[in-house]
Amino acid sequence: QPVLGVLGGGQLARMLALAAAPLGVKTLVVDSSADACAGQVAPLAVADWADYAALEIFARQVDVVTFDFENVPAQSAHWLAERVAVFPAPGALAVAQDRLAEKTLFRECGLPTPDFRTVDTREQLDAALAAVGVPAILKTRRLGYDGKGQFRLRELADADAAWAALGAQASKHGLILEAFVAFERELSVLAVRGRDGDFRTWPLTGNWHVDGVLSMSLAPAPGIDLLQHRATELARTLAERLGYVGVFALELFVKDGELLGNEMAPRVHNSGHWTIEGAHTSQFENHVRAVLGLPLGDTGARGMSAMFNWIGDLPDASPVLQTVDAHWHDYGKQARPGRKVGHATVCAPDAERLTARLAEVAGLLGREAQVAPVLRHLTES
Ligand code: ATP
Ligand code: MG
Ligand code: MG
Repeated sequence: QPVLGVLGGGQLARMLALAAAPLGVKTLVVDSSADACAGQVAPLAVADWADYAALEIFARQVDVVTFDFENVPAQSAHWLAERVAVFPAPGALAVAQDRLAEKTLFRECGLPTPDFRTVDTREQLDAALAAVGVPAILKTRRLGYDGKGQFRLRELADADAAWAALGAQASKHGLILEAFVAFERELSVLAVRGRDGDFRTWPLTGNWHVDGVLSMSLAPAPGIDLLQHRATELARTLAERLGYVGVFALELFVKDGELLGNEMAPRVHNSGHWTIEGAHTSQFENHVRAVLGLPLGDTGARGMSAMFNWIGDLPDASPVLQTVDAHWHDYGKQARPGRKVGHATVCAPDAERLTARLAEVAGLLGREAQVAPVLRHLTES
């Protein structure tokens, strides 16, 4: 029985383990915390990323290693890759860990990005602001997630506040100043590439963020027409350039009808959770298949799906449990402000029935405000 090793024990590892089981694949997870939520569904080894003695034991117990957490130090990933198959390869992971390397690669692959400048000093911040203009967004180059490590600047006078918030990180991780894009919409494309180079994408997903954290997703994103083909070809180019194996997400802005690259996540991704019930093969199953060298599954959608993210705490499950083709996911995590603790996916055969079902579930949950932009979008397109 093949054993999949996962670095990081959050909800992504948990959902990978749940998808691996029916394939006859066992999962072993490593996390620095003994109550990592994946530990509820798979054996968990507790170790720090630099604990090479523990990683050595882990490497001997697994057939292939993958990531739930994209910020595993490159050094640990390289060390493991000398002992066991690691997918995606540490080199691909390293590119996605650095916003500068990532955006540079996007541009090389023909995907424009928001205008940006790297910032290492307070003086460079002023120069970058002069070049990029306002509004702008200052981000740490490394280690940011869920909108953490970011500061939004509305005017030049916000530079001091931005530096106060992130300046200390400049020497350690580097910063990047990006033009703030007044995008029409946000999309992501989930893609998978097998060990043999077989490449597939799921239909484009529409995403809505609140305070930099994903709130709702809708798939297939309506009214995308030609963008699907372009997004698929860009993702393919990126994947081939990186020799990528496994699932990744490419986050995109649509501005004036054209795609701009925001970032890529070298792993299964929150905006692909709808694929568990809404696609023929989920992102989790295809990631397991890809890293183990198994044939990839069909990435087509069954009808339409919308996902609610539960941030901070879980609402009452019953409205979702009582609704046809609606699905509840409790990650088994402690409630905490800003933390992703679960999600729900509502599926339907078409946009009309999805709209009705979503409105009903949201009403019962008291989540009308959360669902509003999605309903508006469904009605308009
Ligand atoms: P993730 O959890 O997706 O890894 P992250 O912390 O890496 O998030 P980003 O994806 O860079 O952060 O930003 C989070 C969200 O903030 C984006 O999805 C988008 O809604 C908004 N955002 C980020 N950069 C820009 C930008 N340059 N212009 C407009 N909006 C932006
Ligand atoms: Mg990110
Ligand atoms: Mg992002």
